[in-house]
Amino acid sequence: MSVTRLAPSPTGALHLGNARTFLVNWLLARQNGWRVILRIEDIDGPRIKPHADRQAIEDLRWLGLDWDEGPIYQTARMPLYAEALQRLMASGHAYCCTCTRKEVELAASAPHAEDGAAIYPGRCRGRFADAADARARTGRTPAIRFMVPDLDMTIHDNFHGAYGCNPERDLGDFVIAKADGTPSYQLAVVVDDADAGVQHVVRGDDLLDSTPRQLLLYKALGWEDRIPQYWHLPLVVGKDGRRLAKRHGDTRIAHYRDAGVTCGRLLALLARWCGVESGDAISLDELLRCFDITRLPRERIVFTHEDDAWLSA
Ligand code: GLU
Repeated sequence: MSVTRLAPSPTGALHLGNARTFLVNWLLARQNGWRVILRIEDIDGPRIKPHADRQAIEDLRWLGLDWDEGPIYQTARMPLYAEALQRLMASGHAYCCTCTRKEVELAASAPHAEDGAAIYPGRCRGRFADAADARARTGRTPAIRFMVPDLDMTIHDNFHGAYGCNPERDLGDFVIAKADGTPSYQLAVVVDDADAGVQHVVRGDDLLDSTPRQLLLYKALGWEDRIPQYWHLPLVVGKDGRRLAKRHGDTRIAHYRDAGVTCGRLLALLARWCGVESGDAISLDELLRCFDITRLPRERIVFTHEDDAWLSA
């Protein structure tokens, strides 16, 4: 049986945008008989909001989505990430880096990745023997970076199609553990997906450029045979073309629910965003029957005031 996961980050409430991604993930799973794991990605320290995990679970349940295993919390799995980190250090795939964000900005005088982040120029590559050496010579506790190759990669995404990049030119060496020892999203997600035998990763296409990073981690850890299939979906954006956020008003599922919007009504909007003509309301069962991934819009979905008014009408 294939395995997939719903992986909310409890950094805020579920809104219409991430609800749609989870819905598509769930529909694909239930149509194809995949096992669903619920994983709470709660290691992103300061961005995690208390109780947002429970809120996400409540929101998913209210929409009618279910899962076969979990919730699994990443914070309960720290030793596994530490072990992977150690292996990457020992095999020479990762190194200590004491650069501050400011230094990276300054050193990366020209190139910036598509998302505007400075591309790390490799300043600490080969500089320190280990963390103790880094600490002794700089007085700083190092972060750990993964060393990316200068290599043209093509990823075959089931929904997006081919995605090409050269990790050194386009991404740079990326952090896999912060100075305080917290593993990064990139590392944790690979360790968890590999461990759980996840074969289908369905997520927003804002994470497309994480995929080459994650593939490199699978390879470096010797897990080539566990690389999943990817389905990157276009995001829901506001009228300004930016990803749905607070500036577009309150689009939280909980907000609509509290205002008396029914689940059927909310699903009807999400269904429309999935290429299903749904009328005023639709049940999850009916949506499961009608959903067809090949009809999912290829372009970004724009959430408008009319959508908001329609939900509450
Ligand atoms: N936790 C991430 C999110 O909520 C998803 C990460 C992933 O699917 O790899 O966007």
